[in-house]
Amino acid sequence: MKGSSDNRYIVFLGAPGAGKGTQAAGVAQTLGLGYIATGDMFRQAMEMDTPLALQAKSYLGKGALVPDEITIPMVLENISAPKFKGGVVFDGFPRNLKQAEALDKALAEQGKAINKVVYLKVLEAELLKRLGGRWVCRQCQTPYHAVDSPPKVKGKCDKCGGELYQRPDDTVETIKKRLEVYFAETASLIDYYAKAGKLYEVDGTGGVDEVGERIAVLLKGL
Ligand code: ADP
Ligand code: ZN
Repeated sequence: MKGSSDNRYIVFLGAPGAGKGTQAAGVAQTLGLGYIATGDMFRQAMEMDTPLALQAKSYLGKGALVPDEITIPMVLENISAPKFKGGVVFDGFPRNLKQAEALDKALAEQGKAINKVVYLKVLEAELLKRLGGRWVCRQCQTPYHAVDSPPKVKGKCDKCGGELYQRPDDTVETIKKRLEVYFAETASLIDYYAKAGKLYEVDGTGGVDEVGERIAVLLKGL
């Protein structure tokens, strides 16, 4: 499924638990695009105990945003890498207005621009339910849900056999805080991209395949 353009930049927007990770990674794979998930990047850094890890740890643990001074350069360094030349699917970035503007500017400097923003819409009650039962593969980051999308073998990833774990920030307290941060900082990007004529709203309720189908229709021909 090769698209018409050489430069395809897709942003996934939505609350924690909306299914961004699952769907964004799927789209990147289907379209043969790079995949940048800032949450995954921070978690990977934390496992390796890098200097970035120490800084990131305290923010992720609290459900707060990692400061823009750390996050923005980390992403911008990556988008100019050769392997991301054909385009990128962004998951979890941008998360506030400053990040969105920085991304637009960096792409514009390369004569590129975001093509489409997929806004995955899910009601808050459903978000809470999903985040509460979430298990993630330690190796490939694929998310599962204890009830809605359990792995075939308990505790093991269907895709790579990796060990499943519960993210330390998926506790009731931190989930609350992350949702607060989303509504206070990230939700304004819905407006930002709508004004730019780039926003495409997708109903994020239902099964992974069902939602994936809605997104595929939307991105057809891209
Ligand atoms: P979720 O969308 O479920 O909250 P993520 O994996 O996208 O999960 O993010 C986890 C955490 O990583 C966030 O709560 C935040 O601390 C940090 N983070 C991820 N992306 C960004 C970003 N673009 N800017 C600042 N912090 C971020
Ligand atoms: Zn896995």
